[in-house]
Amino acid sequence: MKTEKLIPIKKVALKNNCPECFSKNGLQLVFKQKFVENSFHKSITDAISYEINCDTCNSIIYPERWTDDIERMFRYQRKAFTPRPTSRAFKNLFWGMVITGIVLIFAGIILCAQFL
Ligand SMILES: [Zn+2]
Repeated sequence: MKTEKLIPIKKVALKNNCPECFSKNGLQLVFKQKFVENSFHKSITDAISYEINCDTCNSIIYPERWTDDIERMFRYQRKAFTPRPTSRAFKNLFWGMVITGIVLIFAGIILCAQFL
């Protein structure tokens, strides 16, 4: 079981005109970072994705629709953005298996030692 999620970690309101509805106060640039979780661990990856959406007309503005101004703001904001540090946290199931593994190895060594 593996789940991958893009979690929004920063939102910036852009002062640009929306290419869809021309509103000047609806555009938002959203930075998302990919989180991966499976039975053994939870990780924050370095995969970042960006999305611009408009609150006024509720649409996602895809890069093909970006104007030069939006493109410029995006580049500027991307430079100013610091992603979360990547990390990996192991879950109890993982440690349980590690400990079971170590116990089995020791049991094996003790058993072998008896036959020497
Ligand atoms: Zn709009």
